[in-house]
Amino acid sequence: FKVPKEPGKEVDKKDWINKDQRVILQVENLSKTYYQGKIPVNALRCASITVRKGELLAIMGPSGSGKSTLLALIGTLEKATEGRVILDGIDLTAVPEKLLPRVRREKIGFVFQHYNLIPTLSALENVELSLRFSRVPKKEREERAKALLEELGLGDRLSHKPSELSGGEQQRVSIARALANKPAVILADEPTGEVDSKTRDSIVRIFKELSEKGQTILVVTHDPEVAKECSRVLKITDGIIKDN
Ligand code: ADP
Ligand code: MG
Repeated sequence: FKVPKEPGKEVDKKDWINKDQRVILQVENLSKTYYQGKIPVNALRCASITVRKGELLAIMGPSGSGKSTLLALIGTLEKATEGRVILDGIDLTAVPEKLLPRVRREKIGFVFQHYNLIPTLSALENVELSLRFSRVPKKEREERAKALLEELGLGDRLSHKPSELSGGEQQRVSIARALANKPAVILADEPTGEVDSKTRDSIVRIFKELSEKGQTILVVTHDPEVAKECSRVLKITDGIIKDN
C-alpha cells in the first residue's frame, strides 16, 4: 500500500517547522463548485489554511458559508474542484479513488452533530468497528476501544446501545470512535449543536485535553463559548476564508 507522498523539494522547510510544531495540514487554494441544476454554487473559494499539530481550530461563519464543505473536502468526502489538501505528508487530492477509504480510515476522524452511531451496536462495538479493518486482533481491538471509552468517562456504558445513552454520552462515544485509529486530524462539524451547555463544556474540555496531547482538531461551531476555548478561530463568509 503506497500513497503518493508530497515531493520533498516542493516543501519549503521553514514553512513546516515552527517552535517544534510541524504543519500537519495544509489546505492550498481549495475551491468547490456544486451545481444545483445548472446553477453553479461556489461553496468554497480558494481557501488556504495552515494547521500545526495540536491546534484546536474553530471554524465559524453563517449558515451556508461553506463550513461543512471545507470539512468534507479535507475529509475526502467530497472532491475539490480545485486546489490541494496535504495531510500528514500525503496529498489527499492526489490519492486514487480506490485508496481513499483506507486513507480516510487511517488518517481522519469524524465527529458529527448527530453522532452517527450505529443504533444496533453497543458503545464498545461502535468504537471497535472502526478498528475492524486494521490488522489488530479482535481482543486487542476490544481492549483499545474499552480503554478509549474509559478515558472519556464511559467505562460504565460499554454495553449500552446509543438509544440508552444521553446526547453527551453518544457524542463521547463518537469522539472515542474518531480517536480509535489515531488520526492525524479530527474533523468535528457542529459537535455541540444538539447538547446542553454543561455537556457542551465537557466536550470542549475533552477537545482541549486531546489537543494539549498533540491531537489536531478542526471544529465547526456557531457557539462563541466553544470558539473562545480554541487556539485559533477562522471566519468564513460566502465561501471565502481567511487564515490568520
Ligand atoms: P455551512 O456548513 O456553512 O452551512 P455548506 O458547506 O453546507 O455550508 O454549504 C455551502 C453552500 O453550498 C450552500 O449554498 C449550500 O446550499 C451549497 N451546497 C452544499 N452541499 C451541496 C450539495 N451537495 N449540492 C449542491 N449544493 C450544495
Ligand atoms: Mg454545515
